[in-house]
Amino acid sequence: MTKLTGIAASDGIAIAKAFLVEEPDLSFEISKSNDSQQEKERLAKAIADSKVEIEKIKAVASKSLSEEEAQVFDAHLMVLEDPELQQAYTQKIDDDALNAESAVRQTADFYIEIFKGMEDNPYMQERAADIKDVTDRLIAHLLGIKIPDLSTIDEEVVVVAYDLTPSDTAQLNRQFVKGFATDIGGRTSHSAIMSRSLEIAAVVGTGNISKEINDGDMVIVDGLNGDVIVNPDDETIAAYEKIAADFLARKAEWEKLKDAETLTKDGKKFEIAANIGTPKDLEGVHSNGAEAIGLYRTEFLYMDSDEMPTEDEQFESYKVVLEGMNGRPVVVRTMDIGGDKHLPYLQLPEEMNPFLGYRAIRIGLKQPELLRVQLRALLRASVYGTLRIMFPMISNVAEFRAAKAIYEEEKAKLEAEGVEVADNIQVGIMIEIPAAAVLADQFAKEVDFFSIGTNDLIQYTMAADRMNEHVSYLYQPFNPSVLRLIKNVIDASHKEGKWTGMCGEVAGEPMAAPLLVGMGLDEFSMSASSVLKIRSLISKLDSKEMADLANKVVTEATTSDEAEAFIKDAVPELADL
Ligand code: PEP
Ligand code: MG
Repeated sequence: MTKLTGIAASDGIAIAKAFLVEEPDLSFEISKSNDSQQEKERLAKAIADSKVEIEKIKAVASKSLSEEEAQVFDAHLMVLEDPELQQAYTQKIDDDALNAESAVRQTADFYIEIFKGMEDNPYMQERAADIKDVTDRLIAHLLGIKIPDLSTIDEEVVVVAYDLTPSDTAQLNRQFVKGFATDIGGRTSHSAIMSRSLEIAAVVGTGNISKEINDGDMVIVDGLNGDVIVNPDDETIAAYEKIAADFLARKAEWEKLKDAETLTKDGKKFEIAANIGTPKDLEGVHSNGAEAIGLYRTEFLYMDSDEMPTEDEQFESYKVVLEGMNGRPVVVRTMDIGGDKHLPYLQLPEEMNPFLGYRAIRIGLKQPELLRVQLRALLRASVYGTLRIMFPMISNVAEFRAAKAIYEEEKAKLEAEGVEVADNIQVGIMIEIPAAAVLADQFAKEVDFFSIGTNDLIQYTMAADRMNEHVSYLYQPFNPSVLRLIKNVIDASHKEGKWTGMCGEVAGEPMAAPLLVGMGLDEFSMSASSVLKIRSLISKLDSKEMADLANKVVTEATTSDEAEAFIKDAVPELADL
């Protein structure tokens, strides 16, 4: 039994076999064989096994992907069964006396080179990628190496990996994937955020779980405390089954507040909204009783596609979300690409510090055609619900003015074309950069609302990369400097009659709720899975006592630990969560 400690990324306990995601090493020496018949039989078996696998992936993918995306697998089947390629393999086995894997590798390399070289024919260039994919699978079978495929998981597992990209995470089927554990990442890395929307237990930043574990080992992921236990003994399993049962009992208690308003003990009302990444997340929004959507991360729409989604495709997604909320507010954030989020079809420069680089609104203003398409799609969808638009990563007032001007231009154009646009759209900004938090009083005169993105606000205030586990100790939501910035933003908005929400992960952090209630935060937006827990906690708080606590923490605390100690002291209910 081995225990590793990482960062608790998503609540819950998972106990299951490990599904280890490893980049397979398919290197080998080209070698000969003097039994060509045997090599041809090995090849035929590898082709048959690969076919079964690709068909299985296709069946799973066609349930969750669009028809067009699932067609990739038809192309793979065609490559696998291509008679010309098959003849080339057998010729190399017969004429050059190569073993099967060497024959496949040499043939594949030859065709891949040719196709890749067809620079004026992108279709054929894509075929090079298909050949590589399919022949890698064939070679893996010949070498007896397993290629992990997350979308085909069909038994209960815990996924273990060095890291999971947001698109890996999007493939996880929560029916079978009970949890995941990774070597790197922090509480606010995007795979961690997605694990919370999938409502599966997750621990990230364990250092080396993927090296400590073998595929199929029994593993416990304790997403409540950030522990991962490999090959637990029976006693430990029993103990964790009890923790899991207690957690489920607490959840059942919170469940009772699903249709309730969010009110403090003394009757002060707050709004609890949910963060979503795709229209599919609406289900969790409703099942967890969120009152609105406080952050729709639209970049996942872009990341799920092989090319820039068109205005109509975007319009459809926004319409589904707005209609799905039945008039409740939906805050849509314009595309936040860059940092750890990449698009294969949008060339971004190689950067030393991507989180400080060409990202979010900076791309939107430099390549305004991208922003214009998105804004048009949003404006057209606005009549289907209550739309609020916000721009990410605003660092200065001029940026907001430039983005707002583009918005106004697109709105005027649509109206001139006779397209109906809602007349109650609010336009706000995310507060993620300390420069904007400090200057909130000036921004408040021009924006309709603020939404504080603590994931970035903390990384920029503390100068600590949110993806880097070596500096994750500096992810300090309770550092008094961060708390003062938050209070400054809320106060500045209220002075101008505007409202402030928070959509960074701190909004769903139980220990932060007392302070945010005390500071008068108007809207809390979080992973849907945290909504009921926070609503339950708020119902036990007194808003005036919390205002006193917030003032004390902001004026007297010198360190993050001290701030946390003040809060724990004032709110004993936190111990029960
Ligand atoms: C944030 O920075 O807090 C935020 C909500 O945006 P993201 O996590 O997508 O960067
Ligand atoms: Mg952010």
